[in-house]
Amino acid sequence: MSSKERRGRLGLPGVDRVLRSDTAAAMIARYGRPLVVDEVRTALAARRRCDAPASVESILEETAASLARDMLPSQRRVFNLTGTVLHTNLGRAPLPEEAIAAAVEAMRDPTTLEYEIETGKRGERDNHVAGWLTRLTGAEAALTVNNNAGALVLALNTLAEGRETIVSRGELIEIGGSFRLPDIMARAGTRLREVGTTNRTHLADYAAAIGPQTGLVLKVHTSNYSIHGFTAAAPAARLAALARDHAIPFVEDLGSGSLVDFGRWGLPHEPTVAEALARGADLVTFSGDKLLGGPQAGLVVGRAELIRRLARNPLKRALRLDKIRLAALEAVLRLYADPDRLAERLPAMRLLARPIEQIRALGERLLPTVGRAFRDLAEIALIETKSQIGSGALPISLLPSAALALRPLAARSGAAVEALARALRAMPIPIIGRIEAGRVILDLRCLEDETAFIAQLAAAAIKRG
Ligand SMILES: *Cc1c(COP(=O)(O)O)cnc(C)c1O
Repeated sequence: MSSKERRGRLGLPGVDRVLRSDTAAAMIARYGRPLVVDEVRTALAARRRCDAPASVESILEETAASLARDMLPSQRRVFNLTGTVLHTNLGRAPLPEEAIAAAVEAMRDPTTLEYEIETGKRGERDNHVAGWLTRLTGAEAALTVNNNAGALVLALNTLAEGRETIVSRGELIEIGGSFRLPDIMARAGTRLREVGTTNRTHLADYAAAIGPQTGLVLKVHTSNYSIHGFTAAAPAARLAALARDHAIPFVEDLGSGSLVDFGRWGLPHEPTVAEALARGADLVTFSGDKLLGGPQAGLVVGRAELIRRLARNPLKRALRLDKIRLAALEAVLRLYADPDRLAERLPAMRLLARPIEQIRALGERLLPTVGRAFRDLAEIALIETKSQIGSGALPISLLPSAALALRPLAARSGAAVEALARALRAMPIPIIGRIEAGRVILDLRCLEDETAFIAQLAAAAIKRG
């Protein structure tokens, strides 16, 4: 039976007839013809496949529902209550208002991205942030790219293509997804020369590996794990001196790389970029959206002559930052001019340094509303917990925090907890927690928009009756 015959037998309307209706005309005016035609066809085809009859009205209803779904933004705002502050899958650092305003302005109008107002000549895009980066780190020069993985590819390719890069076996990291140091090296065209062992690498191991084939010595911050026990690593300063004696560049990949000492906010010490340079690194690479608290970016600072070589590599063009992120990054760096107010003005820092008393007080305020919203699903308690910094920074340091713990009332099965977590994710602004010992834990450290959070929970409670 042809599809036309089957349609006739089922009494299904044709596409044209559905589209001639007033409702369809209104949909076309709102969403455009191609999308509406597509969705009408899809709805009709579904009925045909299961031999089900349908009226014009029912097809229009289905079409309206799928069109509404099509038009939902795919990337949505969420509440990050996972307890991981710089959560890579949730977009890492939230930006300060100053950076948001700068990005919006750069998006709307033409800018001086690569233009010098004074001379009317072509300018250099990295100059908008290089001044701040050198001032804040003590480096001679600075350069920006898409992310830290890009920074590393650029440095390795520029300085060690066709030659060897020496790295300790204890530092061959994998950072979630597709960042594995050996793979990055292969793509950058440099040969990995592993030295030492997983737990112990000595200066002599590096010294023995240096030869005519050596392009560069690399030290990688082991950002998402730590090795304990019988361990040894060559001190960066000694490594820098060794590389200098052989006229080989020494590059340190700091990963998070902080611009300020976290100790001043009572947080554990994370190596700063200035310290890495002071220890003798010729170049330091780090991320813009980890501890720095800015937009996604890869930053390279260090010796001017090496930065110049990196800037001349054609890969720099492929990896360069756009005007929007440069504007945001510049605004974030400007906040670092006043470290005393950083914890107030830079959201990433504010969340990391947030006092436990404040988080606990928030939990006490939220307890009744969350309790009401989930009273037929879960039993709720305010508990002590530990947040993580995330993005590989200080992997073993945990920050004392407070959380709402939801235990399902239904059978204490894994499925019940999963269902509860799913219900939280199904909120208009999805609430993302973590599952731990049969409970959904909502770490409150990163909850700042209390009003929006309470409003949607109150609405849910009313709906549930
Ligand atoms: C996070 C990290 C990277 C990758 O940085 P992205 O900005 O995510 O590209 C590279 N090296 C180290 C040590 C890291 O911690």
